[in-house]
Amino acid sequence: MDCIFCKIINGEIPSHKIYEDENVLAFLDITQGTKGHTLIIPKKHIKNVYELDEETIIDVFRVVPMIANALKKAFSPIGLNIINNNDQPHQSVFHFHLHLIPRYENDGMQLSTVDNFGKYDPKYFQDLINSIKEEL
Ligand code: 5GP
Ligand code: ZN
Repeated sequence: MDCIFCKIINGEIPSHKIYEDENVLAFLDITQGTKGHTLIIPKKHIKNVYELDEETIIDVFRVVPMIANALKKAFSPIGLNIINNNDQPHQSVFHFHLHLIPRYENDGMQLSTVDNFGKYDPKYFQDLINSIKEEL
């Protein structure tokens, strides 16, 4: 399979590994968006969140606090973002992964949500709930 992360798992491509167990691999993101920028991936090839099974995401998240705390102790960031991109506009590698991105003062990272507070009435919220619940 032509997947760069599967190749990293199989050792066909080198990586800077932080942690590995039977089901999960954590390694440094090659771009180092901030110091310690880490990716955590399941060894099972899963495209993104829409294909995830419970067991796999449990395996992935089981190691998140350990790695987050290691990054915190190692580099003393002021905070940490956990990011997961699915499809457009940001997913570039189609093997599920979490980004752990330690944050520092003036680190240049752009990460913000749009604040639409006050823009919508209660009916809008109710319609949203109905639409989502129909699909659960
Ligand atoms: P996405 O944009 O899909 O959420 O993130 C993919 C990430 O994989 C990017 O941050 C990119 O830097 C990282 N990446 C892509 N190719 C490689 C590689 O060969 N080695 C490592 N360590 N990271 C990679
Ligand atoms: Zn893969």
